Amino acid sequence: MNFACLVHYFGQLEETTSRNKMVGILAALLKEAEAKEMGKIIYLCQGRLVPAYEKLEFGIGESLAAEALAKAANMPKSKVVALYRQKGDYGLVATLTLPSQGRGLTISEVYDRLLGVATTAGGGSVAQKTDLLAALLGDLSGEEGKYLLRIVLGRLRLGIGDPTILDALSQAKIGDKSLRPQLERAYNIRSDLGYVAEAFWGKGETGLTGISVQIGTPVRPALCERATSGEDIIRRLGRCAVEPKYDGFRCQVHKDGQTVKVFSRNLEDFSDMFPEIIQATREQVRPRQIIYEGEAIAYDTATGEFLPFQVTVQRKRKYDVSAMQEKLPLKMVTFDLLYIDGQDYTDKPYLKRRAMLEEVIEADDVLMITEALLTDRAAELDAFFADKVQRGLEGIVAKRLEATYQAGVRNFNWIKLKRSYQGQLADTIDCVIIGYWQGRGMRAQFGIGSLLTAVYDEATDKFYTIAKLGTGLTEEEWLQMKEALDRLAVPEKPPRVKALITPDVWVEPKLVIEIQADEITRSPTHTVGRDEGELGYALRFPRMVRFIREDRRAEDATTLNEILEMYRAQGRRTVSAEQPTEAQEEA
Ligand code: ATP
Repeated sequence: MNFACLVHYFGQLEETTSRNKMVGILAALLKEAEAKEMGKIIYLCQGRLVPAYEKLEFGIGESLAAEALAKAANMPKSKVVALYRQKGDYGLVATLTLPSQGRGLTISEVYDRLLGVATTAGGGSVAQKTDLLAALLGDLSGEEGKYLLRIVLGRLRLGIGDPTILDALSQAKIGDKSLRPQLERAYNIRSDLGYVAEAFWGKGETGLTGISVQIGTPVRPALCERATSGEDIIRRLGRCAVEPKYDGFRCQVHKDGQTVKVFSRNLEDFSDMFPEIIQATREQVRPRQIIYEGEAIAYDTATGEFLPFQVTVQRKRKYDVSAMQEKLPLKMVTFDLLYIDGQDYTDKPYLKRRAMLEEVIEADDVLMITEALLTDRAAELDAFFADKVQRGLEGIVAKRLEATYQAGVRNFNWIKLKRSYQGQLADTIDCVIIGYWQGRGMRAQFGIGSLLTAVYDEATDKFYTIAKLGTGLTEEEWLQMKEALDRLAVPEKPPRVKALITPDVWVEPKLVIEIQADEITRSPTHTVGRDEGELGYALRFPRMVRFIREDRRAEDATTLNEILEMYRAQGRRTVSAEQPTEAQEEA
């Protein structure tokens, strides 16, 4: 397929905000494609060349893009920059400066040449990248150049998320969306939509069932539901395993001989950040190949006590890693096992996975295995919970003994119970920022005074507003926030956002913050869960408790269904409020 054809579909996608229409357009595009182009098309639709968990960036900033476009269009860079000042989008500048006909490159040709741009590194690479990009743009029409530049600058905004692509794949192949669950299962295990699409296109459903856990490729993590009390948990699970809930970084560790990789909650490669986890895995984890999960958490070297998340988070940095390791060493508390030497453990029950974990890890006080209480008594569970909270931990996670590891799924196989204080929701909410207001009074000096936040609905692949938030950030955080949001500012409401109120500045839904609120109320202002009575849901007294969560994609935010469930649960809240310990108050 020609790149011009792909771009034609991009244009159609940009013109609609209707989910069904988007699925239809994408399905039409996929139907026209050849099997070998499938993966490339999927990545390009998402503005990238490889799955999200692979580190590959174009390394092209605006100045480089302007230079390349000027070269391709044979005009001075100053003219290109002047046009950009008028239009605010290098994509639009491309349509004004490149010819109306290109050389008719295929998708594969464009993809391969983009890969060349992205992988050019080392001395002199900036000039080389610019030349490669200029040569590519020189072969394209204005319309093709528009989307190509948006892709390399990270500004392709077609408004399609993973669920829309999964629906479109099913629709394209069999004419309806009924294979979405099978596609989703494969995606949860393989985390690579391009790979899943190619397997599906080549062999249909059989291609999907053939997809299994692969060492080196992250598995989307199993997630917890919420409960209101120990009694609630026992009622749902019966006899279960109760583990402490640690508040650090969730890590999925892949060991393949001496190669060890660590993936974060949202499948980012963290390997360079945690050398002690890599070393401990090489030395203390026996199998040649293994995938295990745990929580990495900083501790006080004098007392061995775990430190709050706000301290652990300082380990998330790319530079000065060894100095930071010395200052704030990590412990790794392992809690699950997914794979050993060619054998998939995700389909084995919890108790079996746990027993094997204990067998293959030579635990010490750095690489540990979570404590687990087996009980069917609510009182025993409550006492365990109280003890953990007393020690400054977040609470507990209870696990169904016979449950398999369900990748990417949030259900009652794992149930969390967190400490909560009188008068607040039993859990925090991860919200996506979709806009901000400039602020009055004191805040006017920062140019930002409050944030418009939203939650996600997977069924519609849209973001719905839930709160306007103006508290919980320090001055420094407001400044950082403004800078981060201005990089994501867009002129209009993004296509995946549903809102009734309009902030001063709209931003691409990308950054996630954690919010605590007193309760969830019905509201005419917000769109989440809005029913025919015209009422949605809103957070009462929202305040930020955790700054931008880099371990979350926008689609990992709290979902509409979770909000509905939390709203129902608050009516029957029975957990007694725990008094915060000193450590928690400081945190
Ligand atoms: P999410 O469920 O989306 O990950 P979250 O990051 O807000 O949300 P919680 O839902 O509060 O986290 O709790 C789940 C997280 O708790 C896990 O992702 C994991 O990082 C952490 N965790 C800590 N201890 C355990 C444990 N023993 N078993 C499972 N998860 C644990």
